[in-house]
Amino acid sequence: MQLNYIANASVRSSSGKTIPVIDPSDGQAFDEIQRSNAQDIDHAVQAAHDCMDTVWRKITAAERGRLLMRLAEKVEQHADELAMIEQRDCGKPTKQAKADAAALVRYFEFYAGACDKLHGETLPYLDGYSVMTWREPHGVTGHIIPWNYPMQIFGRSVGGALAAGNVCVVKPAEDACLSLIRVAQLAAEAGFPAGAINIVTGYGHEVGDALARHKGIHHISFTGSPKIGTLIQQVAAERHCPVTLELGGKSPQIVFADADLDAAIPAVINAIVQNAGQTCSAGSRLLVDEMIYEPLLERLGQAFERLRVGPATMDLDVGPLIRQTQQQRVWDFLSDAQVAGIPMVAQGEIVDEAPDTGFYQAPTLLRDVPVMHRLAQEEVFGPVLCAMSFRDENHAVELANATQFGLVAGIWTRDGSRQFRMAKRVQSGQVFINNYGAGGGVELPFGGVKSSGYGREKGFEALYGFTTLKTVAIKHG
Ligand code: ADP
Repeated sequence: MQLNYIANASVRSSSGKTIPVIDPSDGQAFDEIQRSNAQDIDHAVQAAHDCMDTVWRKITAAERGRLLMRLAEKVEQHADELAMIEQRDCGKPTKQAKADAAALVRYFEFYAGACDKLHGETLPYLDGYSVMTWREPHGVTGHIIPWNYPMQIFGRSVGGALAAGNVCVVKPAEDACLSLIRVAQLAAEAGFPAGAINIVTGYGHEVGDALARHKGIHHISFTGSPKIGTLIQQVAAERHCPVTLELGGKSPQIVFADADLDAAIPAVINAIVQNAGQTCSAGSRLLVDEMIYEPLLERLGQAFERLRVGPATMDLDVGPLIRQTQQQRVWDFLSDAQVAGIPMVAQGEIVDEAPDTGFYQAPTLLRDVPVMHRLAQEEVFGPVLCAMSFRDENHAVELANATQFGLVAGIWTRDGSRQFRMAKRVQSGQVFINNYGAGGGVELPFGGVKSSGYGREKGFEALYGFTTLKTVAIKHG
């Protein structure tokens, strides 16, 4: 049984209740996590405050950096163990699980190096004054993590918050807690003081809500659905608590007729099948110049038919979805497509070894998806790519911007002027030209516009969000 990790100790929830942990590859329970409640959050927030007041506040930025670097080393030593934990918990193919563990190492390395480079400025002002700005931590930060990339999102969120001098209370998603509990234990081994990183597991509407409401939490970092993002904002607004929100996307891959298709095709496929499409920055809409629409769909269709889906440990192109309700959600989208007469170009294959009780979905390529259909508007969070054609550059921009989201955009063209024009005109937090990062690169600020959220995580930019700026003016005559 898995326990909460509070003040460097494994503890049960005061509720005495647990939640089963399901392996998405076979649908069977293999462990339990704590079903925590508001009392457990109180305990964790108190531990975090004690840590801040007694130890953390006095630790220098350089020492925080050393701690994070030691944690990066610990994670690297345990990378295979963490990858296997994540694989079973989340159904990740081996390559993906290992990539996530490697990304966690990179986040801690990056933020280790950043700790002592974060500083304020001196400002010109009236004669006889000296004015400076200080970057101060918020204090105790709350982190509500989704189930699609637990290690990566923990790394970017908690790594940045710690680097900026905060202490953290973390609520992982109920479907994906195990790796984070282990990382918190490794952090204690690396020398993090009790209360710097606390993990409290349970349901979102219970323990997530309690965390978001807690008066002792000074900043909330949330990655998840727009619906829960709205709730978090409402709850945080009651006490004017700052939030950083990353709420997903419906990201377009825009392919012009002059694009290098040999480069574009594998990237387009990877951007929608990576992690079974359960990626905030998945390239889930394919906008294609009408001049190459038919030949491109033909090539893509052949590639989709070769994609294989199966148990995580088989390490195929695609693993299972996280849970049965997610599988049902994807099925509902696909049956809506059928009802609307949206043509299916191709589907991958679920291998015979995949147990019927697992949560599998073959990658699916749909074409001529009407721009206002929910398949072209809402996040499916599954391996479903929706293609449509455009007439010219203006039409491409119109389609690209025609959703509530704006997280990532991919643009494929050899025309240098068009690359810049398009990058300026698409409403998106990140733009990739002739590549598609699917959120990758720990150094690159990440976050959205419109309903994709606000604030930035990753990169140095994230540190500004995890701090508050104090202006100090001294009159010395
Ligand atoms: P999904 O539907 O894909 O699981 P959610 O937005 O529901 O995405 O979940 C993202 C994270 O938010 C998870 O850790 C979940 O437990 C948490 N969560 C869900 N509901 C709430 C809530 N009412 N308050 C705070 N956190 C929540």
